[in-house]
Amino acid sequence: MSLNVTAQQILKQLVSFDTTSYKSNLALVEFVQNYLRDYGINSQLVPDASGKKANLYATIGANSERPDKGGIMLSGHTDVVPVAGQDWVTDPFTLVEQDGKLFARGSADMKGFIALVLSRVPAMLAQPLQLPFHLAFSYDEEIGCVGVRGLLTLLEQLPVRPAMCIVGEPTSMQVVIGHKGKASYRVQVTGHACHSGQAPLGVNAVDYGAQLVVYINNMAQQSALNGPFDYDYKVPYTTLHTGTIQGGTALNIVPNHCEFEFEIRYLAQQDPAPLVQKIADYAKFELEPKMKNVASESGINIVQTASYPGLLIEPEAELVTYVKGLLNNDAHSKVIFGTEGGLFQQQLGIPTLVCGPGNIDQAHKANEYISLEQFTLGGQLLDRLIADMAN
Ligand SMILES: [Zn+2]
Repeated sequence: MSLNVTAQQILKQLVSFDTTSYKSNLALVEFVQNYLRDYGINSQLVPDASGKKANLYATIGANSERPDKGGIMLSGHTDVVPVAGQDWVTDPFTLVEQDGKLFARGSADMKGFIALVLSRVPAMLAQPLQLPFHLAFSYDEEIGCVGVRGLLTLLEQLPVRPAMCIVGEPTSMQVVIGHKGKASYRVQVTGHACHSGQAPLGVNAVDYGAQLVVYINNMAQQSALNGPFDYDYKVPYTTLHTGTIQGGTALNIVPNHCEFEFEIRYLAQQDPAPLVQKIADYAKFELEPKMKNVASESGINIVQTASYPGLLIEPEAELVTYVKGLLNNDAHSKVIFGTEGGLFQQQLGIPTLVCGPGNIDQAHKANEYISLEQFTLGGQLLDRLIADMAN
């Protein structure tokens, strides 16, 4: 229990840093770095271009200065989603314990996990580990797994990479073996303005934008009909969806600008590139010639704004069986949210699953919390993992 008290004290510190994705996470990272230094552990920071954010990577145990064995990576993100516009009862950046719950922004997603990991550092050091632990804490996960890319580069250059990875996103301590990948795009449609009384002399950017939106929606319907399918998901196929659209300034002007965003959430076993190509081809070969026929400066520009791959690890994989054994629970599932896990797995070939304390239903909302029960279960898994690594 005392370890969980420590973990709670660490969590109190972690949530006090407002690491909303658009802000700096350096104060938090420095806190973690100092904490680890107090235990004699060196950590590496991988800063972003602005120098205002950084990933942190540290190796503990089993000749950590030159790990010749892979070991296990514990992965978490330090950023949190915004609190603006949310109806919080308590201060979101102060940990409040009430009714068996710990309330704060990031308590579930996912500073709770990071606090538990840090609280177990002394335990990791207390015994000779056969395999090292690696701590991989990223930034800018919530805006599309952006920050972790620098960390991937660091990992790519290591002589020995972690042999496996647990991403501690809130899964209520269930083993999660898969999630969909995501690719999102911004589309800018440039038309040609004129008085609406002469509409055919202009190029209506909203009309052409709408045609592309409908085309994307038709593809979504095709995907629902034809698959591929993975029935472990409630929505068992790849989805396409337009989420925002703007265009036009006044009803009596043919609009010369329309902008919208769409995303593809695809099964890990499906390549989204042909879908994107189909959309780009429709814009280029069907819509643009008609637009340019009226005004040569008109056109459609599609830019990718974010993407991360899906995660899929076989239920029979060694890591899955291993963690299930530690949890004493043979169940597994796939989830609707994305993680950095697909990047570790696909880009680096590190077998990865997601398992962490707290419920995603309580994340991203006002009055986010992690239950003390989940917090305890999260600590238990780490304790068993450490005990096992020492044997
Ligand atoms: Zn998260």
